[in-house]
Amino acid sequence: MLIELKNKKDCTACGACYNICAQQCIRMSSDDEGFLYPEIDTDKCVQCGLCEQVCPVINGKNERFGDKPAAYIAWSNNSKFLEESTSGGVFASIAAMLLQKNGFVYGAAYNKDNVVEHIEISKLQDLKRLNRSKYVQSNTQKTYQSAALHLRNKEKVLYSGTPCQIYGLLSYLKLKRISTENLITMDVICHGTPSPKLLKEYIKWQEKDKKSNVTSIAMREKRHPRRYFSVPVTKVNFGDGKSSELAANMDYYGRFFLGEISSRPSCYSCSFKTIGRISDLTIGDCWFSRAITGRTDIPFDVTLCLAHTEKGKELLECAESGLTTVLVDLEKAVKCNGGMIYKSAIPDNRRAEFFKELGDTPLDELAEKYFPTEPKHESWGLHKIKELIKMLPVVYEKYYFSNKKKEFDNRCKRVIPPEAYVKKTI
Ligand SMILES: Cc1cc2nc3c(=O)[nH]c(=O)nc-3n(C[C@H](O)[C@H](O)[C@H](O)COP(=O)(O)OP(=O)(O)OC[C@H]3O[C@@H](n4cnc5c(N)ncnc54)[C@H](O)[C@@H]3O)c2cc1C
Repeated sequence: MLIELKNKKDCTACGACYNICAQQCIRMSSDDEGFLYPEIDTDKCVQCGLCEQVCPVINGKNERFGDKPAAYIAWSNNSKFLEESTSGGVFASIAAMLLQKNGFVYGAAYNKDNVVEHIEISKLQDLKRLNRSKYVQSNTQKTYQSAALHLRNKEKVLYSGTPCQIYGLLSYLKLKRISTENLITMDVICHGTPSPKLLKEYIKWQEKDKKSNVTSIAMREKRHPRRYFSVPVTKVNFGDGKSSELAANMDYYGRFFLGEISSRPSCYSCSFKTIGRISDLTIGDCWFSRAITGRTDIPFDVTLCLAHTEKGKELLECAESGLTTVLVDLEKAVKCNGGMIYKSAIPDNRRAEFFKELGDTPLDELAEKYFPTEPKHESWGLHKIKELIKMLPVVYEKYYFSNKKKEFDNRCKRVIPPEAYVKKTI
């Protein structure tokens, strides 16, 4: 049977069908919102049915109460990795270890046109391209095929991506009967993936505003990284040598991402977000490292890790990975992350209207319409004073932690529903 897409929310664009089709009659093409979907050339199709068999959405089974993972917080001992990563640099440390063993690493990178796609690297100097979260949907291209070739040759592979991409890869390898013995899979705690069209419009607006071409974007650059806190900013570099920096939640792109208005339809009912998963490791942010551990010697920028397999645990615990790890209580870890491990985001009810306007209305106008900067209940003066206080490192540190403690206690009062432990298998 030919794969048939009845509802857009049933396709994650993992690309498993595109990778498996031997006739090459599937291509991934963008819809009006800018998201990729498979398009089938029915004239070339031989009705082999592989595209339907490989789809992890169609074939995923809910396994009641999969094994509970071991929870850790971890950070890289390499200060450069820490600086160039989103949180604790766990991905960079493990990837570097694999590259030193002549392995191949797959992850999301900007291409020369600032479009995010999955690429393969085999050299340490290219690792910087993969580090850091790019909060946009990445195109997996034919990476499942190339990872499979390396695995067939008994070479080591690390594949990182969103949970749906890891399910797509594992489903592809299962159907191809390729051993996963030399494979490490690492998925992120995923908020949802915004549209590549939004990123394109953001770059267009930046270039017009700054009258120079965008050369690179870092969506979570660490400003003022210190031991106990850092301020995430979106940093854009331009061809004329200048750059712009804005707190991630104030930046136009960040406002749409965090405002739950720009993600793919499937992200709002993601079936791959469970506490137990089929990847080896799940990585995400940990905003309460000191509160979870009760220790005061833990740095701010750490990664929350869930090890689902023995391989995952070994990676975190072995000295070669260059990580410092602390085992933590799973329930506390899940609660403090705020639920994104197992819950889908709820879409803003203006989402359809927003996508109708995206592309026709300049991005600054859209941002001011949908997510105006100045909170209405606060005077401009008070808002500016608060902003100033946040920028004063010492004052901020005190202010931040008194608020964090209250937030943490509140989060821990919430209960994790039992269905969150149900694991999806293929
Ligand atoms: C779209 C997205 C949404 C996220 N939402 C949350 C969230 O709500 N809560 C939370 O706790 N953590 C979230 N994360 C994870 C978080 O941003 C960090 O990636 C995580 O804390 C690991 O940090 P790190 O320093 O160890 O590695 P990093 O330096 O962040 O390395 C990240 C890895 O993720 C891969 N990656 C980057 N961008 C993409 C992409 N667009 N698609 C697929 N793979 C990608 C890279 O290849 C790299 O392997 C999200 C990540 C992404 C990509």
